[in-house]
Amino acid sequence: MNILCAFKTELDLNNIQKTACARHAGAARWAYNWGLARKIDAYQNKEKVPTAIDLHRELNALKKGELAWMYEVSKCAPQEALRNLDQAYAHFFRRMKEKKAGKKIEVGFPKFKSKKNGLGSFRLTGAIHIFEHAIQLPRLGRLRLKERGYLPVEGVHILSATVSERAGRWFVSVQVEMNQPEPLETDKPVAGVDLGIMALATVSDGTKIENPHALKNDLSKIRRLQRMVSRRQKGSANREKARQKLAKAHMRVANIRKNALHQTTSLLARTKSAVVLEDLNVNGMVKNHHLAQAIVDVGFHEFRRQLVYKGQWYGCKIILAPRFYPSTKRCSKCGHIKGEMGLSERVYTCDHCGHMIDRDLNAAINQKKLTTGSSPESYACGESVRPGFQAVLVEAGTEHRST
Ligand SMILES: [Zn+2]
Repeated sequence: MNILCAFKTELDLNNIQKTACARHAGAARWAYNWGLARKIDAYQNKEKVPTAIDLHRELNALKKGELAWMYEVSKCAPQEALRNLDQAYAHFFRRMKEKKAGKKIEVGFPKFKSKKNGLGSFRLTGAIHIFEHAIQLPRLGRLRLKERGYLPVEGVHILSATVSERAGRWFVSVQVEMNQPEPLETDKPVAGVDLGIMALATVSDGTKIENPHALKNDLSKIRRLQRMVSRRQKGSANREKARQKLAKAHMRVANIRKNALHQTTSLLARTKSAVVLEDLNVNGMVKNHHLAQAIVDVGFHEFRRQLVYKGQWYGCKIILAPRFYPSTKRCSKCGHIKGEMGLSERVYTCDHCGHMIDRDLNAAINQKKLTTGSSPESYACGESVRPGFQAVLVEAGTEHRST
């Protein structure tokens, strides 16, 4: 089975390389905006709207004259930008059609790209080589990587590389095609997983995956910076400075957590035949004011996204527990459901059978029981699984959102 996947990692660029990358991103942005203006013009003059291929031909002619500066960048950068434009255009018309058919959706016409949102990105194809410490790209040469060994060095067919800038840092995302052996039918166990604040994840077999150490320090730093931003006068340069610091700290926390999540999802997808997760209302929870909880919520979405595509590689199914399934309040031994369970209560103590168990482990076991132990004897006392509760199977490919 051939699968497509993308690996994104940070570049370690010198000043000359940074300038070259900024120039490529500039050429891509210029081509995109120029192409968009050409399309709009043609439409308004009732002419045939030019395609990416038409525009590329036109651009090549212009390069011989006023656009001579474009010879300094790989021809891929503007060409791929025009391809993106075609896709954005097609996407717009597809969405319009759906809207006319009665679907209630917001449809936006492709926008001109502004430098306000950073330097942007560009995509390259052709001769791309990955080494342990570096990636070689057309025109840009060998670029060092901050993290060695993350990009796949062998066994993959490289399709393209997208270089992008964010908050002054440069990243490369490599799109590859690789052959994944068909997942075998195995007797790997089913696991329930609880994502939390104290531990990153607790698995129903008792495994606890701790949060990375750096996270705790960063959280107190974020709280301090948040106070600083709110104390500074609105619109002042000092507030802007504090806001930038805060954004950086947020990004650091997100990166640390993302790496930890990757390790966890790989482990689960490889060793389990199915994983049961809570189905949280992620959209509704982003407004949560409790900082640590907010980060857990964001992590949950990322966790699920990773698990879905890795599950497809290793043949692990993802099952979502129903939204109001009381996995925290239920006793994993007798099935009794507690009235209240405060966030600070780290140990679950059953009022009915006296069972004492780690709070997160109790929740994880309950998740697992949704698939394997929902038979009446599993809930000898208390309320059994309420009718109407049904685990939902998430198939790979049904999740398109990404972070
Ligand atoms: Zn009990």
